[in-house]
Amino acid sequence: MIERVSFAVPKGIQINSHLLSNGVKLPHLSDLDIKTLFNSMQLTLDGIEEFHDTVRMRHDGTGTFAATLEQIKRCSKLTKVLIRFNVHSDSDTVVVKVMNFLREQNLIGKINFYFSPITEENGSGCQYECISHVEVVDACLKEQERLRQAGDLSTKIYSLPLPKCRECSVDLDSHIVIGEDGTLFKCFPDAGRPEFGVGHIYTGIDKTSLHDRAYCDDDPFKDSRCRNCSIFPVCGGGCPKYRINYKESKCKYTIEQIRRLVLCSL
Ligand code: SF4
Repeated sequence: MIERVSFAVPKGIQINSHLLSNGVKLPHLSDLDIKTLFNSMQLTLDGIEEFHDTVRMRHDGTGTFAATLEQIKRCSKLTKVLIRFNVHSDSDTVVVKVMNFLREQNLIGKINFYFSPITEENGSGCQYECISHVEVVDACLKEQERLRQAGDLSTKIYSLPLPKCRECSVDLDSHIVIGEDGTLFKCFPDAGRPEFGVGHIYTGIDKTSLHDRAYCDDDPFKDSRCRNCSIFPVCGGGCPKYRINYKESKCKYTIEQIRRLVLCSL
């Protein structure tokens, strides 16, 4: 990849690269490599150390939290870093613990972060969804409201979502994920699962493929709840993969949550 970027950039070819990683292998890259290769990166932690290290282990059983944190601190000096905190369950406690941790580490205001539920369709690896997006937003809101009441108006735990024209670009013909063996997929959690392939880099996209059609033909307005929903402009009908799998949309927010988010953003 370093060779390809070094080849393309002097020729004026613009490459935007965003790395999604747990950061454990980043020590293999020099500071210069990271600056050259990545416009931005998202590093993932599963809550705080006591939980993260029970689910994110090396083969020898040791946890990876400390290694990921070290790379978050290092890489944030080299490129834009976003931390995604996966929430598996008990979101109220997780959000409070994570915010305390960020405060102890003096990272608030220096690093962007967000909380996200572990779901089957977002590629987090869980087959069983123990927490919803709505529950995670609720936990963030509770803590943000508590901080505001205590006089802290600057810490943003969950920002007011902005209107957007689509929730996900998976329905675009041009949206393609390339697997490591060259197989093409539509949605990134499908990568590595040949049954979800929609073609190959040598043969192109098979536009008749079942999965290509399912994603490209997805339309949240097929769900009458979305057609009549006043927060559709900020929700967009939720994840297309979920809608395809379960034949209905999954709400990301409630109207009451949007009202509370507006109040918190004032
Ligand atoms: S909140 Fe629910 S009903 Fe409203 S747009 Fe989102 S998925 Fe559809």
